Amino acid sequence: MTRLRQASAWRKKNESTTNDETRKVKFRHSAFVIVSSFVIRTSSFLFSAIFPTALQAEENVSVLGSKPKWSVLEKYQETITHDEFNRLIHDVYCTHGFAPDLIEVSAKTAHVLIDRDSPKFFTLRFAVNNAGRKPVPHLWRPAKSLSPARADKPLVGLKVVLDPGHLGGKWAKMEERWFQVDKSRPVQEGDLTFRVARLLAPRLREFGAKVSLIRSGGEPVTAKRPDDFRELARKILIKNGVPLPREDVLDPNDPAKEQTIRWQSEILFYRYSEIRRRAALVNLKLHPDLVLCLHFNAEGWGEPTHPTLTDTNHFHLLVNGSYLAEELEFDDQRFEMIRRLLSRAYDEELPLADMIALTMARETGLPAYEYPTTNSTTKVGMSGYVYARNLLATRLYRCPVIYCEPYVMNSNDAFVRIQAGDYEGTRLINGVERKSIFREYADSVAEGLVDYYSKARARGD
Ligand SMILES: [Zn+2]
Repeated sequence: MTRLRQASAWRKKNESTTNDETRKVKFRHSAFVIVSSFVIRTSSFLFSAIFPTALQAEENVSVLGSKPKWSVLEKYQETITHDEFNRLIHDVYCTHGFAPDLIEVSAKTAHVLIDRDSPKFFTLRFAVNNAGRKPVPHLWRPAKSLSPARADKPLVGLKVVLDPGHLGGKWAKMEERWFQVDKSRPVQEGDLTFRVARLLAPRLREFGAKVSLIRSGGEPVTAKRPDDFRELARKILIKNGVPLPREDVLDPNDPAKEQTIRWQSEILFYRYSEIRRRAALVNLKLHPDLVLCLHFNAEGWGEPTHPTLTDTNHFHLLVNGSYLAEELEFDDQRFEMIRRLLSRAYDEELPLADMIALTMARETGLPAYEYPTTNSTTKVGMSGYVYARNLLATRLYRCPVIYCEPYVMNSNDAFVRIQAGDYEGTRLINGVERKSIFREYADSVAEGLVDYYSKARARGD
C-alpha cells in the first residue's frame, strides 16, 4: 500500500486520476520523502512567514489552513444519535478507519482530539434517541425545508453556486490542464468548465433557481499570485528534505520539477490559495443551498504537446468523505470532517448525486469510472457512479457539494466533440447524432436537479 501511494504520488498532474488533489499523499509515517506532496504537510513555522500573527508554534494544520474553532461545534450538541454518528463515520467519512487516539466513540458521547500536540478533546453529546434529537442547524436549506414549488418551477428559490473547476485561459499551462494535438485548438479544462457553467446557469434559472458563478472568465478569485508564495514554497521544500531547492523548472517533463520553488509556488497559488478563496466566497458571502463543481476528467496524456488519445471514456461524481488516516491527523481536516458530518450535508448530497448520475448516464451513455485503487475513495449510493473523496472543495464549502467528473478530455470521442465546439441541436459526430458536449453536460446536470427537487420538495400548485 505504501509503495502504491508513493508511486501514485509521482504521477504527473494529468495522469489517470486528475481530481484536484490527486497527489494528496502524505508521509507522516513514511521513511521516504515524497516531493510531490510537499505542499500538503507543513508545520506552522512555514505559515508564520505569511500569517505572522494568525498561528502559533505548535499547530498542525494543512496548507494555507488555519487553526479550527472547535467551539462552533457546540451548536451540534444532541443533534445526532450515537447510531447515526457511527453510520456516517464508518460508511462515509472514515471508511479507511481512524486512529483511536483521535476519535473515541462511546454510547453517549464522541471525544475528538482538538490538537495533535496536546491532549485536549471536544466532547460531542449524542441525542438519546431520534425523538429527542435537536434540529440540525445550517445556513443552507435541504430540499424538504424549501417552500412548496409549482410543478414547472421545481427549483424556485433554490440558491445554487456553480464552481467551474480550474482557471483556464493564460493559466491553463501552469495548471497542467492543457494539451494540444498538432495544430488543433488547445484543450484547456478551465475553459471547458466555464463554458458548461455559462450554459447551465440559464437552464437552472428557467426552473426558478438563483444561480451564481464563483468566477468570471479566466480570472482567479484569489488576489495572490505565485510570486507571493515563493518563500513558503522554499520553506516547504527545505522542510521536506531539499536543502537547496532550485528556483526554476529547466525541463517541464522532468519529475524533479516538483522540487523547484517555481512549481511549488505555482501550485500554492492555483490550487490551495484559489480554492480556499472560493470557499471563503461560498461560506461568507454567497451562502448557497448547493454548490456544483464542474470538471472534465482525463487519462494520462503524457507530453501536452504530443498528447496520447485513448478510447477510454467514463464519468463519476464525488461527494465529501473517505478521509485517509493521515488526513485526519491534521487538526483542521479532522475538525472539518466532524463539522461536515454533523451538518448532514451528506443526506442531501448523496440522493442528489445519485439522481444526477442517472440523468448523466442516460444522456452521455458513459460507463462509471472505476478508481484503480481504493486508497482515497469509497463508492457510495445506489447508482454506481458516486464516490466519497476528501477534496479541498468538497471539504471546505459548507453546504451540499456535488463534484462532477464526466468525460475523459483526451478520449478520442470527447476530443472530437470538444473540437466541434458548442452548437444548437445535434450534429453527426463519429457517426452518431449528438448534442454539443457542453450542452449535453449542462442539460443532464439540470435534469438531475429537476428530478431530485421535484420529488424531494413539497408541491405547491
Ligand atoms: Zn478538474
